[in-house]
Amino acid sequence: AVRGRPRLECVDVTVRFGGLVAVDKANLAVPAGTIVGLVGPNGAGKSTLFGVLSGLIRPANGKVLLEGEDITGTTAQSRAASGIARTFQHTELFDSLTVRDHLVLAYRAKHEKSRVWTDLFTIGSLRPASKTERETVDELIEQLGLVPVRNRPALGLPLGTARMLELGRALATSPRVLLLDEPSSGLDPNETAQMEEVLRRVVDERGISALLVEHDVELVMRLSSAVYVLEFGKMIASGPPEQVRNDPAVRAAYLGE
Ligand code: ADP
Ligand code: MG
Repeated sequence: AVRGRPRLECVDVTVRFGGLVAVDKANLAVPAGTIVGLVGPNGAGKSTLFGVLSGLIRPANGKVLLEGEDITGTTAQSRAASGIARTFQHTELFDSLTVRDHLVLAYRAKHEKSRVWTDLFTIGSLRPASKTERETVDELIEQLGLVPVRNRPALGLPLGTARMLELGRALATSPRVLLLDEPSSGLDPNETAQMEEVLRRVVDERGISALLVEHDVELVMRLSSAVYVLEFGKMIASGPPEQVRNDPAVRAAYLGE
């Protein structure tokens, strides 16, 4: 790591879809061990910027840096290998695989790569977890409150539980950076409160840097040490939550004042 550099940053990133400038010279930095929030109205460019950081969208201009190293041209797979994990707004789980096996599989995907798919599709079931795998996975199951459902298949899990599993799958890869795409979307107030508590704890305990894209502005304000606000592709404000909350441009553009 380069001292003093943010864990993950984007510099002057521009993304065009045909004639539309979806992201316009955006700058954002996620310091080590903190949660940074990204908010903005629908269509502001949040998901597009998220795609740029995770490697699924190529910017027309600008750079993405991981601990100061330029990773703009690298693939999503190579970013995952270098410790950037993401969750999806719509959970993408294997219906018949148990909660526990999802986590074992995610752990193996990071730690032994090629053998995982052979395991799943030719043998039809996962090989028994090793002692290290069991310890890692059981700790996650405990931390995420998944103990009661650990042997249940993913199909039919309540949304809040599925979201926790999705988060667990990202954490099983021991990420340095966690990109969270609307982790509270569709959750009821109880599930949202639980997600908030878990996010705060895992980021703190594991020294992870997280970027939180969320429509729930209050949740973002409570969790983040810095908040960025996008509007029509432009970053119109950034700073500590209280400062951003009181920014006149933000109030006008986003909070409907
Ligand atoms: P947000 O996530 O903040 O709601 P998006 O990043 O999804 O915003 O979209 C930003 C703008 O880019 C919107 O106007 C959207 O319609 C447009 N857009 C997003 N993805 C594409 C795409 N693949 N092709 C064309 N336009 C897109
Ligand atoms: Mg979006």
